[in-house]
Parts: sequence; structure tokens; C-alpha cells
Amino acid sequence: MSSVPHLTIDLGAIAANYKILQKRAAPALTAAVMKANAYGLGAFEISKTLYRHGCQTFFVAYFAEALVVRAAVPDAEIVVFHGLAKNEFHEARAKNIVPVLNSLAAIDAYTLFAKSQNEVLPAYIHIDTGMNREGLPPDELAQLIASPHKLNGLAVKAWMSHLACAEQFDKPMTIEQLGRFQAALEKLPPAPACLCNSSGLFWGPAFTFDLVRPGSALYGINPTPNGTNPMHDVIELKAPILQIRNVDTGMTVGYGATHRIGHKSRIATLVLGYADGYMRTLSNRGQVKIGDFLAPVVGRISMDLITVDVGALPLELVQPGMTATVIGRHRPIDAVALEANTIGYEILTGLGSRFERVYKTAEAS
Ligand SMILES: *Cc1c(COP(=O)(O)O)cnc(C)c1O
Repeated sequence: MSSVPHLTIDLGAIAANYKILQKRAAPALTAAVMKANAYGLGAFEISKTLYRHGCQTFFVAYFAEALVVRAAVPDAEIVVFHGLAKNEFHEARAKNIVPVLNSLAAIDAYTLFAKSQNEVLPAYIHIDTGMNREGLPPDELAQLIASPHKLNGLAVKAWMSHLACAEQFDKPMTIEQLGRFQAALEKLPPAPACLCNSSGLFWGPAFTFDLVRPGSALYGINPTPNGTNPMHDVIELKAPILQIRNVDTGMTVGYGATHRIGHKSRIATLVLGYADGYMRTLSNRGQVKIGDFLAPVVGRISMDLITVDVGALPLELVQPGMTATVIGRHRPIDAVALEANTIGYEILTGLGSRFERVYKTAEAS
């Protein structure tokens, strides 16, 4: 019996997913992306787990996120995608938190700091190969190639770039980006290279270079959307049944009266809503699982409640206090995402903080 939704996060499944990716990427090393609180699932717990399973490099988006990971792992490298602000340089250096430098201006600022400290500082440098979002654009790359002394004071830990369409295996863009990345590497001072997100590393050994940096696949999202998912499911979201009522033909359910009852049935109300990240676009979509039975979600998603039609289920199975599985094996993240007209990333990162979060611990290996 429980009165709040439960989000179970299977750390063993995340560790197993890490192993799968590691095997695929080898001999390249496998980092783990922890941004957005490890896609909403808990950067502290997950980085601790992956560190115990051999992960030595963690990527985050912001410096504040790096500090969370640093509290969990004593000595692994933590890399900040968006780079560092000047007032973060000192603390970052002391804590082995490494910036990605995304522009010549960022390179200048960090080399200046390195010189002021009389040190050579580690940094990743992002070369834009077609995202037009982050990293050195072609003109800045050309300047860097022409003036490699701009890197004095830096130990380039890796040249990196980011793929725009890695999950679309029929698009030529990934191969074009690989070509641009390789062309840049040939002209830049030698250093390790890092190109692949989760889907990228499924393009094969020409793409994996020295280090890969998956995020989504660790958390169970399918990196090969047109094929079967090679990853293990990581989360299960369960919501308690609050109330049950009998309904008759012609009655409606919920806000906007969007669901009309076709024949005598029963409606169960579950404690879960869009304030928990169970998106309103899932109104009248998908099925929850109660015991071995599926029950369709009917009516609008409210802020704190959803309604399901349980008319076809045995009475004794559907009682207040019992729970329904809303996201789980019968309906993995990618299926929910499809029903919500979005991607699994948005479903995961949107999951709220009102849940009781339960971490299933991983066996150390
Ligand atoms: C988020 C992110 C990743 C991880 O991508 P996934 O598709 O989740 O594996 C890798 N690199 C960069 C630059 C990112 O922003």
C-alpha cells in the first residue's frame, strides 16, 4: 500500500547497459553522460555505480552538475560540455573538473588562466562539424589550425564533435560529419578524439575513435530506433489507485469531458499527473498494467491524477491502495514517448521530484 507514485531506478540495469556499450565501443573507452541529473534519474547514485563498474570519465552540461558528480566519485575525470565561467576556473582546477572549450574566446580565456597558474591544464576542444550549435565553427577552426600556439598552456585531452542525426542510420549526415571531423584531426595537433553519443557508437569502429560518450542508452532509451532495443529497461513508474467508481453509458471522464463512456464500466483514479512529468499530451493514450491486465488511460491527464478504464479487469484486482504500472516492461520509455509525440529523453528528464525514488542497487563486479 502506498499513497505516492514510485519511481524505481535499476542501477544494475544501468551498469549492464554500460557494459554493453563498453563492449561495442572497445578499444575506445566509454564515458558516461550525467547531464540534467543523469537524465532525471539521479547523477549522484548513477555516477557512483558506473565508477564502481570502471567508468573513468563523466560528462555534464554545467559546472554545478559537475560538483554533484564530484561528490559521488573521488578521482574520475569530469568534463563540462558548456565550459566554465571565469569564476569557476579555480575550483574546477582543484577538483579535476575539465572544461570543453567551445570557441577561440574560451580557449584564450583558459590558456590565460593556465599561464597565470604556471600550469598546463587539461581541456577538451569541441569542433563543430554540422550542428551549428556549440563548438568551434569552421572559421575559428581554420584560425586554430593556422595558429596552434593558441593551445599553449593546454593539454588537449580530446578533440570532440557531436553528431546531429546519429539515430537515423539511413541519413548521410553522420558520414559527412565523420569526414569533416577526420579532416580537422589531420590538421590539428595529435590528441585523442571523441565523436559518438549513444547512437553514434552503433555506426561502428570508424566512428568510435578513443572515447565515446553515451547518455540515453545507459538509461534504457533505444539507440537504434528502427531495430529492437539492445539496452535493458531501467525505470519502472508505479502509481497507486486512489478511487474507483462505476460509470454508465454517456457519462464523461475528466477535464474537458474528452472521454465518453460507451458502456457500463469502472474508472480507477491513479495518483500521478502532469506535475510529475506524466505529460498532458498522454491524455487518452496508452495503457497501464494492473496485475497481468492492461487498462487504457481515458480522459485528460490532470495535474495530480490520471484515470484508467478498469471495466474489463477482475474486481478483486482493482482496489484502492493497489498500484498500477504506468511505465515499465509493458510500456517502456520509448513507447510512452511515441504516444506523447516526443522522445524518450524528454520523458526521462521531465519526471518529477514528487515520486518516492527507489534505487535497486547493482552488484559490484
Ligand atoms: C547529451 C549529449 C551526449 C549524449 O547523447 P545521447 O544521445 O544521450 O547518448 C553526448 N554528447 C553531447 C555533446 C551531448 O550534449
